[in-house]
Amino acid sequence: MKQSQLFTKTRKEAPSDEVSKNAQLLIRAGFIHKEMAGVYSFLPLGLRVLENIKNVIREEMNKAGSQEVFMTVLQDKEIWEKTNRWDDVVVDNWFKTKLKNGTELGLAFTHEEVIANIMTNFVNSYKDLPFSAYQIQNKFRNEVRAKAGLMRGREFSMKDLYHFAKNEKEYNGFYEKMKDVYMEVFNRLGMGEKTYITVSSGGSFSKYSYEFQTISDAGEDTIYIDPKSKIAINEEDYSEEILKDFKLDVLKEDLQVEKSIEVGDIYQLGTKFSDALNLTFKDENGEDKKVLMSSYGMSPTRLMGTIVELGNDENGIIWPESVAPFQVHLINIGEEEKVKEIYENMIEKGIDVLWDDRDKRPGEKFADSDLIGIPLRVVISEKSLAAGGVELKKRIEKESEIISIDEFLKRY
Ligand code: ATP
Ligand code: MG
Repeated sequence: MKQSQLFTKTRKEAPSDEVSKNAQLLIRAGFIHKEMAGVYSFLPLGLRVLENIKNVIREEMNKAGSQEVFMTVLQDKEIWEKTNRWDDVVVDNWFKTKLKNGTELGLAFTHEEVIANIMTNFVNSYKDLPFSAYQIQNKFRNEVRAKAGLMRGREFSMKDLYHFAKNEKEYNGFYEKMKDVYMEVFNRLGMGEKTYITVSSGGSFSKYSYEFQTISDAGEDTIYIDPKSKIAINEEDYSEEILKDFKLDVLKEDLQVEKSIEVGDIYQLGTKFSDALNLTFKDENGEDKKVLMSSYGMSPTRLMGTIVELGNDENGIIWPESVAPFQVHLINIGEEEKVKEIYENMIEKGIDVLWDDRDKRPGEKFADSDLIGIPLRVVISEKSLAAGGVELKKRIEKESEIISIDEFLKRY
């Protein structure tokens, strides 16, 4: 794509009420637009990144054998009353609205009830189990504080996966497998090394549940890490009992304390939703049994914010290749003929390239390029040609290298 055609422009300042680093950088670089606190629109560059993140997640969920669905945002009060989650006293972050005739509706903040209810139509026998389904969809939560940019939205994207099992073996087996699937997603997004499987209190149906916490000063959580086992414990849930249960041979004062971002969580729900919505199956003996459910959440928008919090410097964003809006930022200083030839060649090869074809000073082009954060910058100028070709510089590195145009076109 030619940068002259991009309607977004970079800007020097983020809105004065924007305090989070991720949103400041993303707004300045033209990836997102702030509608209000916790509510952001995605512009062409931002949408490319968000879709890349969603696709990494989608690939891993599909690989895990899950089937994609798309459920509704508008919610029927009756279903939620069955699990006692309609009442604002029980769930305090609902956005609710009404039909013209006065019927109350909610905007979904999660989908356990909805999917359990759908599955009552399809699950009859033990032969129908196990299976799982997931969606990538916008959720709505009336969050009290929405100051963390993309990391805490009032409208935000979530991947929520639900698993349905007939026995403990399937139920526990899938739960364990998803820990690896989640870590694979975080690895692919370039944040695996900083992300810890973290023990937290389990809710009502299991003693413990797990969160995935990524170390960052921008996080709202605090975790205690056992460097030996690489297991972490959420500060809120820390107890001596956890150390015993997980056989962690370590003293509290030896645990490493870090601020962190919750980038995902996984829950075993037992029969809570199956009981309330009557999700049953007939076992081998023809007896009615309740389906065992588990749920697996992560947020593409929070992940995008997290990636920016982890990858930036004083000049702007540093995207990992796996989600970058483009792979190559081609910049020319003069040399229109040469650059056009290179650009067309790259397009032909299907390389994701953004060409800064604008009539701007070099300094401005370089500053914009650093702010936008594409992994590889390729400069063609009189100077680079005199030195032997094009100048390559990785966004994460300080040094550049010159290679011949032929060599460059062979490599990319
Ligand atoms: P938190 O404790 O951060 O409020 P949660 O435990 O209530 O999150 P879940 O309902 O389990 O969140 O949602 C699944 C995942 O979605 C979370 O692990 C988190 O990564 C992400 N998430 C939750 N709330 C938001 C939000 N307001 N904006 C963006 N992502 C969110
Ligand atoms: Mg959580």
